[in-house]
Amino acid sequence: MSDLPLDFGDPADLDRLRRDFRAWLAGHPLPARGADEPVPVHLHRWHRMLHCGGWVGLDVPLEYGGRGLTALHQVAVSDELGARGAPGVPRIGYLAHALLEFGSEEQRRRLLPRMLAGDDVWCQGFSEPGAGSDLAGLSTRADRGEYGHYTVNGQKLWTSYAQYSDLCLLLARTDVTGPAHASISAFVLPLDRPGVTVRPLRAAGGDDEFCALFLDDVRLTESDRVGAEGDGWALAMTTVAYERNALDTGHLSKYGLLVERLRRRARESRGSLPDGLLSDIGRCVVDYHVLVAHSRRRTAERLAGQAAGPESSVDKLLMTRAEQRLYETALKVFPEELYEDSEEGGESEEGGEIFKDYLYSRAASVYGGTSQIQRNIIAKRLLRLTADDRG
Ligand SMILES: Cc1cc2nc3c(=O)[nH]c(=O)nc-3n(C[C@H](O)[C@H](O)[C@H](O)COP(=O)(O)OP(=O)(O)OC[C@H]3O[C@@H](n4cnc5c(N)ncnc54)[C@H](O)[C@@H]3O)c2cc1C
Repeated sequence: MSDLPLDFGDPADLDRLRRDFRAWLAGHPLPARGADEPVPVHLHRWHRMLHCGGWVGLDVPLEYGGRGLTALHQVAVSDELGARGAPGVPRIGYLAHALLEFGSEEQRRRLLPRMLAGDDVWCQGFSEPGAGSDLAGLSTRADRGEYGHYTVNGQKLWTSYAQYSDLCLLLARTDVTGPAHASISAFVLPLDRPGVTVRPLRAAGGDDEFCALFLDDVRLTESDRVGAEGDGWALAMTTVAYERNALDTGHLSKYGLLVERLRRRARESRGSLPDGLLSDIGRCVVDYHVLVAHSRRRTAERLAGQAAGPESSVDKLLMTRAEQRLYETALKVFPEELYEDSEEGGESEEGGEIFKDYLYSRAASVYGGTSQIQRNIIAKRLLRLTADDRG
């Protein structure tokens, strides 16, 4: 049972949805991962199952392949999944929102139903070797030719799971004379276009999440462009704003499960845990509840029609702090989780998952914009501080 209190009115409707989804989940558990099946392929099977059940894109309008419900319904589904430790739908929400806000009617009708169904798998081609935090400084170019075609040249980096993807939401510079932010445009790049090379990169931990993308004289048309020329920056900021929210990413209820496990351990410890560790657990509980309260507020804003904006940097910082402290503390409290194949760890409740989540939590202060960049955004755009305000 989930413990994420939503309570935004219309509970009958939401309760019914939760009940229906729980019943569906009971008959459709997450399928076992094949021996050599890569994680993204496994998750893609799960995505398709969820879509067949009608549980993907709840807040996307009916005409674009969704269910035409509200953000609250989508949150309830993510919450139910997280509360069972089941993965959510990968990397859909924030890309769908970017297309909803910036795509043409033709693009929304063509691309969104296939995205939601998992017929097209998407990746995000924003970062480059010299442009991560300084995204506006990206140097991939899309030069417009005589017949309205674009020729794209450049390189993207850290593109998650591009080797398993069909389409990439790409940022490229369409004007080399104008101001940096205003001369970036967004495109839908089919990864099988001639001139595209996807090269997987092996991370230190052995994962193959990242790819480098090489673009050599790739031809794109006007109908591949999302929004007007120069809209790329606004589209990118919309995308990352949705990427920075613990509700959209479905992480909140997953944290809730572990927080509850820590609380149980603290209650049962009867003095066997050192005071320092008990304080750490206390901090995890507080972080979690702050994040829940904050996420409820963000949901209320969205239900009131407010678009995601720079406030999402606060979401991201809170989420990063909660996640990193939680997994750090959990590893101290459950040290057996360090050993995936240990007698206990192999068959334990989380089966070594905490250690994997701990390792991945280190990336939380980098992906979707680093913590330093979030603080810069908060200082400049929310607090309106200037260089003169430096203490
Ligand atoms: C798990 C993961 C998945 C990712 N997936 C994708 C993806 O699918 N698509 C994609 O496009 N990108 C992806 N990224 C890349 C991510 O967006 C970038 O790593 C991130 O924006 C930081 O850029 P960078 O790595 O170039 O670091 P840099 O920008 O080189 O930053 C290095 C350090 O300098 C600091 N710094 C830089 N500028 C400033 C400043 N102005 N003020 C203060 N400090 C500063 C940064 O905070 C950081 O600590 C992913 C990253 C991770 C970790």
